[in-house]
Amino acid sequence: MPCDKIAWLERVEAKNFSCNSYHGLPEAPAFSITPGELPVIVSAPHAVTQLRDGRVKPSDDFTGAIALALAHESGCHAIVACRFDACDPNWDPLERSAYKRALVAHVRERGIRACIDLHGMVSAWPALVAIGTADGATVAARPELRDLAARIFRDRLDPYVKRYGKQIVVDGDLAARNPNTVTQTVARECGIPCLQIELSTLLRVPRSVGGIPRGEKAPPKRFLDHELKARSHPDPDAVLAAVDALAELVRSCT
Ligand SMILES: [Zn+2]
Repeated sequence: MPCDKIAWLERVEAKNFSCNSYHGLPEAPAFSITPGELPVIVSAPHAVTQLRDGRVKPSDDFTGAIALALAHESGCHAIVACRFDACDPNWDPLERSAYKRALVAHVRERGIRACIDLHGMVSAWPALVAIGTADGATVAARPELRDLAARIFRDRLDPYVKRYGKQIVVDGDLAARNPNTVTQTVARECGIPCLQIELSTLLRVPRSVGGIPRGEKAPPKRFLDHELKARSHPDPDAVLAAVDALAELVRSCT
């Protein structure tokens, strides 16, 4: 049931990611892997707050819960960041990223054939979804996946493209062109196709901003005006449509 799925996402988000102002629980591991049977892995490296070049960066809210929902529903594997550990898996080089080393090892050990790396864009970005393949480099093993992903999101999210006037963008400004991104690293190290998928706040956050717990060990998460505005009118149907589109993409990658 759709309502139940939103409640499930909110429960998982609160329990694992948004606690302590999106720094995660102090006693949690920095990241966790949920093994699956379907040979695809969904990654959410920014599910909690991260540190990039000495600067604290806010979490990509609900990407962790969505990754776990996809694992739960489709049987794919998932890797999610669970606790702030002063790293950024989508920025740090492989030798300084325990997250990426564990991901690469898991892909090799389990014969995983594709990786989908989930991220979040704030609502100020003009895109509804930004698909990044480093201009095709990260899907060199299966180039057709780039067009396939674009078709799935355009078909399933057409009502929201029209409602919000934002597009499905392929290899635009957010295209995973840094060699240390999760997708470039896994594509290079494992030779499998990898897609970076950036979702607008409108497709990830199904509740208003007031639901984020304040942290005892971390400062409260702050939002700019445009982001507060987007979060004050959440669209749960858009979130459900985005999860369904991702589920179709996961199945299509096998
Ligand atoms: Zn991100």
